[in-house]
Amino acid sequence: VNDKTSNGHKNDAQTLYVAAPSKCYPININYGWIDHAFLKALAHERHVVVITDENVYALYAEILKGLDVYVIKPGEASKCLRVYGEIQAYLIEKNLTRTDTIVALGGGVVGDLAGYVAATYMRGIGFIQIPTSLLAMVDSSVGGKVAINHGAGKNIIGTFYQPDAVYIDTAFLNTLPEKERSCGMAEVIKYGLISDSALFEQLNHMVALDWQQQIKAIIYRCCEIKAEIVSKDEEDKGIRQILNFGHTIGHAVESYYHYSGYAHGEGVAIGMYMKTCMAYASKKISKQELETVRQVLEKFNLPRQVRNTNDLPSILKEVIHDKKAEGKCFKLIELKRIGETEMVSYTYESLLQRLGEINHKEMV
Ligand code: ADP
Ligand code: ZN
Repeated sequence: VNDKTSNGHKNDAQTLYVAAPSKCYPININYGWIDHAFLKALAHERHVVVITDENVYALYAEILKGLDVYVIKPGEASKCLRVYGEIQAYLIEKNLTRTDTIVALGGGVVGDLAGYVAATYMRGIGFIQIPTSLLAMVDSSVGGKVAINHGAGKNIIGTFYQPDAVYIDTAFLNTLPEKERSCGMAEVIKYGLISDSALFEQLNHMVALDWQQQIKAIIYRCCEIKAEIVSKDEEDKGIRQILNFGHTIGHAVESYYHYSGYAHGEGVAIGMYMKTCMAYASKKISKQELETVRQVLEKFNLPRQVRNTNDLPSILKEVIHDKKAEGKCFKLIELKRIGETEMVSYTYESLLQRLGEINHKEMV
C-alpha cells in the first residue's frame, strides 16, 4: 500500500483538540494539504480576510489568489497600534461582520497581531490560525494568547482569544529559513525538558536527514502537551506558567541586546541551558544529562551562552526588573529532572547566589 505522498511523507491526517474553558477547537496536522482549493472553500462559507506577511506572501501568493489578503511587513515591529489600526480600517472597508473570519497565515508575528485584531473587531469575530513557522506551529498558534507591542514593552496590549481552529501544514516548513527552524526547535526542546523525557530522547537521537520525516509527529506531541496545559489553565494563572521555562532569562537576553542580538528561540535556549546548569549544580541532574542537553542545543544550532559572559550580571538585573511588579520575591520554573519542573522562589540576592554556584566555564 502506498500511503506516502510524492515527497515521501506519510499522508495521514492527525487531529487533536484544545478543550479550553472558553472554547473547544481542533488542531489538524498533515503534510501538503493547505492549497488554493482549501482556502477557497473556507472563504466560500463566510467572508474571509487573510492576514500574512511579505515573506510568506511572496512564497505562497499562488494559494491566495482571489482572496482578500492584508500583507504586513515581516517582523516584530508590525505588531503595533498603527498596523493594528490599518487592518481594522481594511476590515471595515471590506464590510466584515461578526460572523466572518480572519485567517492568520504566517509566523508568530502574524498570529499575534491577526488574533488581537480578530478578538477586538466588533468585540470578536471568527479566527483561524494557519501557522507557517515551526515556532508558531508548536507554540504561539495554540492557546489563544494574542497581543501587540507598545513602546513600553512587548505584548503589552493583548488578551486571550482562542482560535476556532488551528490548521498545520508541515509542507510550509520546506521554505522556512534554517535559523527560524532552529528557533522553533528551541520551543520543541522546551516541551521535552518540561514534560516529556521521551520526546527529549527522540530529539537527542534525531539525525538531520530524519528531520522532515519526524517533525509532524513531534509537532503533534508539542501541541498535545500545550493543549493539555491550556485546557487546565487557559489564563496563565498557574500550571501554564511552566511553558515559560527558560523564558525569564531568555526575555532578559533578548531585551538586553535590544531585540537585535538574539532571536526569541536563541534567548530561550540560553535561558534553558542556564536552568539546566542550575539543576546540575544542585545535583538534580547528572553530568551526563547536562551533557545531553548541551548536545541537543548544539545539534539544532542553538546558543547556550551569551557571546560575552561579562554581560551576565547586567542581564540578570533585567530578570529582576521583569519581576519587580510581583514584589521582592519571585518564582522561576526549574528543572527537577529531564521531563519535569518545579517552582522555586527567589529574591535577587538568592538568585545571584544560585547563579554563582554555576561554573560558567562549564556552560560554554
Ligand atoms: P515566529 O518565529 O514567532 O514565527 P515571525 O512571525 O517573525 O516569528 O516569523 C519568522 C520569520 O519567518 C519571518 O520573517 C517570516 O516572514 C518568516 N516565515 C514564516 N513562515 C515562513 C515560511 N513557511 N517560509 C519562509 N519564511 C517564513
Ligand atoms: Zn517562547
